[in-house]
Amino acid sequence: MASLSLAGLKKSFGAVDVIKGVDLEVKDGEFVVFVGPSGCGKSTLLRMIAGLEEISGGELHIGGRLCNDLEPREREIAMVFQSYALYPHMTVYDNMGFGLSLNKTPKTELDARVREAARILKMEHLLERKPSQLSGGQRQRVAIGRAIVRKPGVFLFDEPLSNLDAALRVDMRMELAKLHRELSATMIYVTHDQIEAMTLADKIVVLDGGLVQQVGSPMELYKNPVNKFVAGFIGAPK
Ligand code: ADP
Ligand code: MG
Repeated sequence: MASLSLAGLKKSFGAVDVIKGVDLEVKDGEFVVFVGPSGCGKSTLLRMIAGLEEISGGELHIGGRLCNDLEPREREIAMVFQSYALYPHMTVYDNMGFGLSLNKTPKTELDARVREAARILKMEHLLERKPSQLSGGQRQRVAIGRAIVRKPGVFLFDEPLSNLDAALRVDMRMELAKLHRELSATMIYVTHDQIEAMTLADKIVVLDGGLVQQVGSPMELYKNPVNKFVAGFIGAPK
C-alpha cells in the first residue's frame, strides 16, 4: 500500500480549466471516494493520478515519490475501468496475467499471482473462459483481478459498478469492501452514486466544478455539510 499527496493539482484542456487546484492527503490503506455530479472532473482527477492525463500544475506524490512526469507503469498504481477493457480473444487467465507477462514476470510467479487473485475473487473455475462467456459481474471481477495481480500500492476505480444491474451492484459493493480489508490496500474510488460513497468510504471527497467542496468521513459530511451543495448531495437536510 502507499500514501498519496495532491498539492494544488490543476488540469486544463486548452483554455478550459477542469481541475482548479486540488489538495488532498490519502493515508496508507485508506478507502477514499471521489463523489460529485457528472462532468465535475472526477475521472480527470483519477486519470491524472494514474498518469493517463498530463498534470497542468501542482504536485502529485505517490508513496512519497514525485510522480508528475512518471509513466503510468512507473507509478505504484493499477486502474480498473468502468468499461472493463478486457481482451475478447484471451482467456480470463491470460487477461489477468497479460500485464505481468509484458513486464517479463517469470511464469511461475505470474501463475501464482493469477491463481491467488482468482482465489480472492472466487473465479478459480472460470480461468479458461473467454470474456464473452462471462456475466457482467464476472467480467468486472476479471478487470479487478488484473489490478490485483500487479500488487499496486494504490488501486484506482472509475465507476466500476455502473454497468451492472442494481442487485449485482449491491453484491459487488460488499465484495469491494471485503477486498479492501483483505488486501489492506489504498483505494481511490470514483462514483456519482451517494450510497456507494457512504457505504464504502473511510473518507469522501466531494467535488464540484473542479474544486474540492469538502473532505470528511461519511458521518462528518452527513452531519456537518459545509455548504448547500454538499448538503444536497450527501448531507442531512439543513
Ligand atoms: P466526471 O468524471 O466527473 O463526469 P470528467 O473528468 O470526465 O468528469 O470531465 C470533467 C470535464 O472535463 C467535463 O466538462 C469534460 O467535458 C471535460 N473533459 C474531460 N476530458 C476532456 C478532454 N480530453 N478534452 C476536453 N475536455 C475534456
Ligand atoms: Mg467520469
